[in-house]
Formats: sequence, C-alpha cells, structure tokens
Amino acid sequence: MAKKNELAEKLLYQPKNGYDRLSAADAKAMEKYCGGYKDFLDHGKTERLCVEYCVELAEQRGFRPYQAGRKLKAGDKVYVNNRGKGIMLAVIGAEPLSNGANIGAAHTDSPRLDLKPRPLYEESGLAYFKTHHYGGIRKYQWVTIPLAIHGVVVRADGTAFPVHIGEDAGEPQFIINDLLPHLGREQGKKPLNEAIPSESLNILVGSVPFADEDVKHRFKLGVLQLLHEKYGFTEEDFISAELEVVPAGRCADVGFDRSFISGYGHDDRVCAYAELAAIFDAKKPKKTAVCIFADKEEIGSEGVSGMKSAAFDKFMGELCAAQGVELRACYANSFCVSADVTAAYDPNFADVYDKKNAAFVNYGVGLCKYTGAGGKSGASDASAEVVGKLRKLLNENGVFWQMSELGKTDAGGGGTVAKYMAERNIDVIDAGVPVLSMHAPRETVAKLDCYMTYKMMKTVFEQA
Ligand code: MN
Ligand code: MN
Repeated sequence: MAKKNELAEKLLYQPKNGYDRLSAADAKAMEKYCGGYKDFLDHGKTERLCVEYCVELAEQRGFRPYQAGRKLKAGDKVYVNNRGKGIMLAVIGAEPLSNGANIGAAHTDSPRLDLKPRPLYEESGLAYFKTHHYGGIRKYQWVTIPLAIHGVVVRADGTAFPVHIGEDAGEPQFIINDLLPHLGREQGKKPLNEAIPSESLNILVGSVPFADEDVKHRFKLGVLQLLHEKYGFTEEDFISAELEVVPAGRCADVGFDRSFISGYGHDDRVCAYAELAAIFDAKKPKKTAVCIFADKEEIGSEGVSGMKSAAFDKFMGELCAAQGVELRACYANSFCVSADVTAAYDPNFADVYDKKNAAFVNYGVGLCKYTGAGGKSGASDASAEVVGKLRKLLNENGVFWQMSELGKTDAGGGGTVAKYMAERNIDVIDAGVPVLSMHAPRETVAKLDCYMTYKMMKTVFEQA
C-alpha cells in the first residue's frame, strides 16, 4: 500500500491549497505585503495616480529620473515617467544588457467611465454628466454605487490643474440612478447587457439652479458656477480634460478570516504592485531588472502610453546605448513576465469554467501559457521552454503557482500586453493573480495569491 502511494506522489500532479503549505514566516510576510498593496490601491484610483504614487515610492528608495546618455553602473536605480500615465523603472544588473533583461509588464489602467468631451447637461431640473465607458464593463454594475471623479483639466491658457473629488470624508460623491422595481417590469425582462444602455450612464451632479429665473440653462449654470469658484473652470474646459469616474472609497479586507481584499482596480494594479515591491526588494539582480506599468491595456494597448508605444523601446534603447549594446540583441535575450490577472474559478458560475484548467483562489499565482479567444486567436502562446523556465524557478524558490486558462474555450476570451512583448522578440509568459468579479466596480482577490505573485516577480528579478 505504501508503495502505491509513493507512486501516486511521484507521478500524479496534485495541486494543494496554499494554506496547507504556507509557513508561519510567509503568513506574516503576506499580511505586511498586503498592507502595502492596500495603500497602493487606495492611492492609485487612476493610471495617473498610480504613476504619481510609484514615483513617490521609487524616489524614497533611491530611484532617479533617467536622462539619456548618463553612464550607468550595476545597482543604479532609474525610472522614466511616460507623460504621467505610464512608468518604466530599472535596476541595472551586474551583467551587460547584451545578456538580456528580466522584465515585468503590468498595466495600471482599469475599466471606468470617462466624461464625454461635452458632458454637462440639464434635464427636468437636474444636472448631469454624460459618460463614455472605458474598457469592458457590465453596465448594470455601475448604477447606484458611490462614484468619485479624478483627472486633469487643461485650461484655455494651456495650464493644467488636477481634479479629485469624492474620496475623502466630507466630500460630495456622485451617482447614477436606476429604475425602481415598482416600475421595472419591462426593464427586468431585458438581457443584462441591454437593461442599462450606455447613454443612460449619466451621473447626477446637481439640482440647485442659478438664482436668476430669466437665465437659460440655470441648472447647468448652477454647477458651472461652483466649478468656476473652485477650479476657475468654464464649460469649454471640459473639451481639453480627462476626467475619470471611478468607484469611490477604499479597499477592504473581506471575510471573517480577512483572507480576501475587495476593491476597485485589482486588474491590474495587484500585479503592478507585485512588480514594484519586487524590484524594490530584489537583492543584487545579475541581469537588469525592468518594470513597465502600461496604460491603455483595457482598450487594446493603444496610444502613446500603451504597450504598443515606442516609449518602452526608447527607454530600453537608451539603457542599452549607455552600455554600447544593441537593443535588438538585448530583446532577443530578455525574459518577460506579463503580470496580469486571470479569472478565479467561481462556484456560483461553474458553467463558464473548465474546472480541470481553472485558477483557484489560494492556490498561488496563475500562469497562463496563452490568452486570446477561440482557437488561441490573439495569443502569443508561450513556448514549452518558456513555461518550463518559469515553472523550474518557482518550484526551486517555494513560490506557489498554478496553471490556468481564463475559462471554457467557447465562453469568451481576453488578452494582455504579452503579445506586444513577443512582437519585440522578447520571450514572454502571462502570470498573475486570480480575480473574482473581474472588471466589476469592486473586484476580489486572495491575499495569498497577491503575495505569491510578488514572490514570483522577486524570484524572476533575482534569478531568471
Ligand atoms: Mn488586465
Ligand atoms: Mn482587464
């Protein structure tokens, strides 16, 4: 009998729940790490705020803005802020960049509601902002929840000013109203994705009219008057603004055992923070360690701040030039973890998962050989060698991991920045935290999986 069990132990792959393997030291480190992550999440409600907070944390740890042409030596810590919407950081390794870099790529944009260029209107004594959603949202989830507004407005004279309202105690919040059930009979019959049309995602912003009854647009004017007093704002200023509407409030521990964190924007700030903490903590990396937090992943990695942008190539090219190394040679020898979240198996919606290939909460960081849709369309599909390299590294360093697919092949699909790294001739694999309620105003992750994603990135920066 004992012999049979030995054989089963040796031959069968039997993933174990992380809590059955977690050491006391790791359990303690996990709580500390997650405390830092929760601060990051509360500071980083938008991609711009994430960059600001990253710069603050990086500067505290000796990172400095990189100027092209500056000489670099092992241990130097540099970063480049890409237009306030993306950031790239590097710790220079002992080996030359011709041996390649170890790269972590995550994104810090999250699904949200952007204000339309002409958002403000009044109707029946109420003032509203019209919105245009950014990324894949389930619109019915965004009604009747507290909302905050963050962003930047560029005035007619070209000066910019920040807007942040709705997060702090005592500040007003915003809301999108929904139909009362008493009158919702017809709405209730509609499919979920049709019940709340995009053009009804209008945010209630006021109802006190401008005092003079003879003035047109009194309710709009009432709101504009307040905006002008506070920010010097005119209606035309909305046109050169990026104002993002996000769920208001802080993240929180969930469960009697506090094993989860619920909050807005885990996708993909949970992996960005894992990279950031890992590049801060990595001890004397042999190869240069690089982090990029890209913007615009949720809308296809487009734009100057997205992963398709040459901003990354410029950063890497300048680091290479400082060592007389060709960028192409560096890329060919580099290794990248595209650190992005994956779907966690949810027993309430068992139908859409292939349980044999799903990521489970508390089983560690989820590795994805490929993402995409249907027959792997749009996936970079990591090679056996790349998967094997990461598997070996994680096993040798006590990092809990699991292999995962997003869901059933016919259920849908999704993508990441991985393929844009592969296009640069960089070996890449997706790996990240399994998430419940992905893309919802509040998503849920397990602390154990967050911590294991950090341990993975630290291992990659130190040893890959
Ligand atoms: Mn993502
Ligand atoms: Mn996403």
